[in-house]
Amino acid sequence: MKYDLAVIGSGVIGTFHSYHAALKGLKVIVIEKDLFPQEASVRNFGQVVPSGFDLGRWHSYGRYSTDLYKSIQEKFDIGIRNNGSVYIASTPDELDLLIELKERFDANDYPSELLTKEQVLERYPAVNSDYAIAGLYFSQEVSAESRKMIHQLHAYLKEAHQVDFAYTSPVVEINDKGNEVEIQTSNSKKFIASRAIVCNGRDFRLLYPTIFSESNIIVCKLNMMVTKPIPEVQLQGNILTGLTIRRYESFKSLSSYKNLDWSNIDPRLVDNGIHVLFKQRIDGSIVIGDSHHYAAAATTDELGFDVDLTVTNLILEEAKNIIDLPSWEIAQVWNGFYAQISGEEEIFECFPTNNVKIVTAIGGKGMTASAGYSKESIDQFIL
Ligand SMILES: Cc1cc2nc3c(=O)[nH]c(=O)nc-3n(C[C@H](O)[C@H](O)[C@H](O)COP(=O)(O)OP(=O)(O)OC[C@H]3O[C@@H](n4cnc5c(N)ncnc54)[C@H](O)[C@@H]3O)c2cc1C
Repeated sequence: MKYDLAVIGSGVIGTFHSYHAALKGLKVIVIEKDLFPQEASVRNFGQVVPSGFDLGRWHSYGRYSTDLYKSIQEKFDIGIRNNGSVYIASTPDELDLLIELKERFDANDYPSELLTKEQVLERYPAVNSDYAIAGLYFSQEVSAESRKMIHQLHAYLKEAHQVDFAYTSPVVEINDKGNEVEIQTSNSKKFIASRAIVCNGRDFRLLYPTIFSESNIIVCKLNMMVTKPIPEVQLQGNILTGLTIRRYESFKSLSSYKNLDWSNIDPRLVDNGIHVLFKQRIDGSIVIGDSHHYAAAATTDELGFDVDLTVTNLILEEAKNIIDLPSWEIAQVWNGFYAQISGEEEIFECFPTNNVKIVTAIGGKGMTASAGYSKESIDQFIL
């Protein structure tokens, strides 16, 4: 069978490219090397937070993606919950940033609500009263159940849009013959399509290794953990904290950012790229992270395979300053990895041949922005 489009890689970018192509009426196949997706798109927090992006292209993709997630959820359970995001300030200078961000977003039709300390503690009783001084709440933002969403999206695409999926199929060669592309897997499967899009995440060895080794792609390793289910704790939505206010792009572009006082911030947190986020899963367990360590695409192995417990404990220590839980029993710890571009570019796009497009290195914004970005990418590639 000849497909109109083959998508290589079934993470969130590949999945939404296949969605938008199928909506155009194309016959699409998604080819995934693993038995099921198990990379960044399932290892993440699942926070869909356009408020973390400065106004512009990526913020718009995030808003589009949020609406699309909600509309798919109405038809098919993909584990999206409309429970908002809150940024909790712990110092007066962080609060200044919340106030300035609210003004900027208000002027651009992206509403939010400033919460007093009392309102934060009332809505999020687990938060420590000596941590929070105020909050900024975005009611329209959603959270995804990361371990579930991609699998459910695949099920939805098969059922509603007749997208085909081939798992356990590592693509090792793409031969562009001009009128069609021939796609070869390491286990001797062959697929034919008019065009192919490679959404390979952080795998730079199976396809186009030279292109990737010459690129300015870097890979980030993140430490994550989840508690045992504690459904008696109410911590709904995306919980972002003072260190996030100091880290996210939307805050960095504000005029009051330069006034931030860093003297009381533990340098070990800064050195390990730690900012503490929480996301309570549907079963009541609480996902806690994260940290950031980097290596070039060609030397990703240097990031190692160990979960560094020193980093895990630093995250936990800071988490305990922010919230109070009846039990801190950790059920799982894991590493997540994502590719990103160093420098000004915010995603890696390349056309190795006329009928093949590579899209990867969306960085830490893939769950928020991929659905919107992928629409534009497909519209440009498939006229
Ligand atoms: C710990 C962590 C927390 C995060 N939290 C958030 C968050 O809260 N909000 C947010 O917006 N973003 C978050 N992100 C970022 C987001 O998860 C990523 O940006 C996004 O998942 C990247 O999607 P992707 O499709 O490019 O990559 P991936 O999910 O890595 O998917 C790539 C897929 O391609 C497959 N593949 C690669 N090569 C081949 C080949 N040759 N043949 C066949 N298949 C192939 C791989 O097996 C993989 O399944 C987080 C990331 C991490 C790691």
